[in-house]
Amino acid sequence: MTDSSATVRPDRRAELAAGLARVRARIADACADAGRDPADVTMIAVTKTYPAGDALALAGLGVTDLGENRDQEAAGKAAEVAAAGVRPRWHFIGQLQRNKARSVVRYADVVHSVDSVRLARALGNAAAERERPLDALVQVSIDGDPARGGALPDSADEATGLEAVAAAVADAPALRLAGLMAVAPLGWQPERAFARLAEVAEAFRTLHPGATSLSAGMSGDLEIAIRYGATHVRVGSALLGMRPTLR
Ligand SMILES: *Cc1c(COP(=O)(O)O)cnc(C)c1O
Repeated sequence: MTDSSATVRPDRRAELAAGLARVRARIADACADAGRDPADVTMIAVTKTYPAGDALALAGLGVTDLGENRDQEAAGKAAEVAAAGVRPRWHFIGQLQRNKARSVVRYADVVHSVDSVRLARALGNAAAERERPLDALVQVSIDGDPARGGALPDSADEATGLEAVAAAVADAPALRLAGLMAVAPLGWQPERAFARLAEVAEAFRTLHPGATSLSAGMSGDLEIAIRYGATHVRVGSALLGMRPTLR
């Protein structure tokens, strides 16, 4: 028997299939409640902390979009998955250091966490080597706390104001401004967080009509995010199980 993390045991595969069925049903119910077409909501399976074998098993079950939040882990996993001949769409959803931009653009199809002008420029330069433009979402801070990351809506700040970051993305030929991403701040009711995000997104789309993606909602709050217009939900623990460390 070969020792490869790129295969899963049948019981793990069954566990993932069950998780997937539950999450797909939740998304379908939330779309029905919101009067939305489930085809307009993409589920990103967040495979962080889980091995490439789980990613491959999910792909084998029909999952097309996978998410990771750390470059080092993601680069290796994406390479293992590619070596198995599987080509999911990889979403980079974590905080990104500028010095990791060159690595991320090699495997990511979408980066959800562009939250500064400097990062947008670094990604734009790095992505110039790609064949296809990189989809970039600007991560917004819902509570306006700059310490936790996220561009600031309603701010004229030249480094982290939402419009300054969006302009830096739009100005980079190798990037496509695809939309916005947010995480509900700790201590906020998801209702309040996603209602606020929906307002920001609506105003944003009047300025950037092509930027229609809205990445919001995780295992615990995806229904509420869908009610407020999420087009991408990022689901980890509800699919793959609780992570040993909270990240
Ligand atoms: C880990 C992570 C998720 C998934 O979280 P779960 O609660 O496990 O679904 C979503 N978004 C980001 C940015 C993450 O880091």
